[in-house]
Amino acid sequence: MYLKSLTYRRYRNLKDCTIKPSQHINVLVGHNAQGKTNVLESIHVCCAGRSHRTTKDRELITFLKDDAYIDARCMRRDGEHRIEIGLSTTNKKAVRINGTPAKRLGELMGHMNAVMFSPEDLSLVKDGPSWRRRFIDMALSQMSQVYFYDLQRYLAALQQRNTLLKDIAQKGKISDTLPVWDQQLAGYGAKLIVKRKAFVASLKDLCLDIHGRLSGGKEELKLSYQPMVKGESEAEINEALITYFERNRDYDIRRGITQGGPHRDDVKLILGDQDVRSFGSQGQQRTCALSIKLAEVSIMREMTNESPLLLLDDVFSELDGSRRKWLLEYIGEVQTFITCVDMQQSVFKAMEDVRIYEVQDGVLEGQ
Ligand code: ATP
Ligand code: MG
Repeated sequence: MYLKSLTYRRYRNLKDCTIKPSQHINVLVGHNAQGKTNVLESIHVCCAGRSHRTTKDRELITFLKDDAYIDARCMRRDGEHRIEIGLSTTNKKAVRINGTPAKRLGELMGHMNAVMFSPEDLSLVKDGPSWRRRFIDMALSQMSQVYFYDLQRYLAALQQRNTLLKDIAQKGKISDTLPVWDQQLAGYGAKLIVKRKAFVASLKDLCLDIHGRLSGGKEELKLSYQPMVKGESEAEINEALITYFERNRDYDIRRGITQGGPHRDDVKLILGDQDVRSFGSQGQQRTCALSIKLAEVSIMREMTNESPLLLLDDVFSELDGSRRKWLLEYIGEVQTFITCVDMQQSVFKAMEDVRIYEVQDGVLEGQ
């Protein structure tokens, strides 16, 4: 898949513009705070329905303006897909797919896929479990509307259960609706866990290979999904979750919150025999994060039969020459958008089909 054209209006600091990117490598070069990341972010919004940096759509609209608009046309095997996103300070986000308004955000999933790698992704390796869950949820949601809706339903049920728990704690009365929410949580939770485990198992195999090559054969990266409950099949996990929620009910009531479940699961990252999070060096952590993201590209390609777009924000400045070269070779035919602050462009200039955009004060030049 590749992005044929991208139009944005009143998006962050960017001046209204339409670009027609190269099908291969696109480099956005410019000083700090000129708008490079904003361009990548606008592409990400068309794929995932939200920014990778904020959950507040309002922040994406140019200061003092009331609305913003993004129009992305991408080519897939089955033809052109057009995604339009309208953001407004007063109304809900408006999504149009091939000219037809979408009723639900989930309809967006699967039309345009991208994998973003940005400096914040170091958190994937360095920080708490929520980053790793978010990564998995975003990746699976982009690939599958079913996953996206199951996740929404799980989170809605979780919120209802938590409200009820607080009610019970405050008013001291036992509610007979709690088991209903346990059932709902367990049902959707089991679906999520089965898909997450399969996803992490694929990531594990790919990461072992990619990380091995990125580190020149010196390091072995291993991933494993760490659920709160045991079980292989959806039915087994469902049962185990129901038992788990029942067992923790009193504890949850005292705390007024559902302490455990898929919303608290984690992915363990082991390098050699050590936990990367605690013992990995800065460089090792960065390379691990990159390996995971590149593995995500391969999985998306396999699952959707199309290469996703690759969005590399500030990645090149952090890699040494041989890793940079390896990465460019690995990217192969994937349409890629790369941001950088200086003319590491010389690396790119030698390559074919490269488009270089200079970004200054929200203006893109070199189209
Ligand atoms: P760096 O090299 O430091 O990563 P960048 O070129 O990637 O810089 P961006 O993150 O794209 O920079 O941001 C560019 C500018 O956009 C920032 O100075 C920020 O203040 C501005 N900006 C962010 N949101 C808005 C908005 N809603 N309206 C106008 N300007 C905004
Ligand atoms: Mg940036």
